[in-house]
Amino acid sequence: MNRRYRKTIIAGNWKMNKTLTETKAFAEEFKPMLGRPKWCEVVLCVPAVNLQAAIRMFKDSRVSIGAENCHYESSGAFTGEMSPEMLKDIGVKYVIIGHSERRQYYNETDFTVNKKVKAALEAGLRPIVCVGESLEQRELGVTIDLITYQVKCALAGVPAEKMRHVVFAYEPIWAIGTGKTATSAEAQEVCEAIRTVIRKLYGARMARAVTIQYGGSMNPKNAQELLAQPDVDGGLIGGAALKPDQLMDIVNAANQD
Ligand code: PEP
Repeated sequence: MNRRYRKTIIAGNWKMNKTLTETKAFAEEFKPMLGRPKWCEVVLCVPAVNLQAAIRMFKDSRVSIGAENCHYESSGAFTGEMSPEMLKDIGVKYVIIGHSERRQYYNETDFTVNKKVKAALEAGLRPIVCVGESLEQRELGVTIDLITYQVKCALAGVPAEKMRHVVFAYEPIWAIGTGKTATSAEAQEVCEAIRTVIRKLYGARMARAVTIQYGGSMNPKNAQELLAQPDVDGGLIGGAALKPDQLMDIVNAANQD
């Protein structure tokens, strides 16, 4: 983390978990734990059906609500989809784009990720752009090349004035939901490489200001060490974000002086 130059963001990705009733129970338990605002911003990305209710539940707290996906068009004949404008209009602040599960199960590509990033920014949302390699790609030694390519694709055509709203999440696919975490050195190496790409595209000042998270089995035990890395500015958290006490422990690790 480097709080002098950029925001630390702890974001939960609930995926297809929690009913409305369970969302209420989470909010009732989590809100009192949060206390006064500190360094890190807390975001909960929840299933679309519960977005509005979650926004209401967390209105008087310092939790921002995010969506887990959006379409790249603002309206039209796309049955079952949601546009960035619709999300913005109900008070959503963040949207996860290009999560590896969307790439794997719903045919998202670097090309659609780019379109979604631009559409989200245009609508006034902050995209959390996920990039990451598979185990095979890591073993082949192409991780940095691949991440560089993914970041460049995601940002193609993104103007400098919008860039400060973009958040990146480095999520090695082999670490998501597996209990296997990247070492802090691996996380730092890739997050630093992402910043290098941004520096080359947008200059040093912008690169210094962009929040880059790590995601992949982050939990209360490993959070502190991962977050201590200079280029790891927060976490995108799946499993551990479903439990109020575990998420709070990670937030506390990010808030340490
Ligand atoms: C994720 O879904 O983005 C994620 C990192 O999941 P987990 O923390 O469960 O590995």
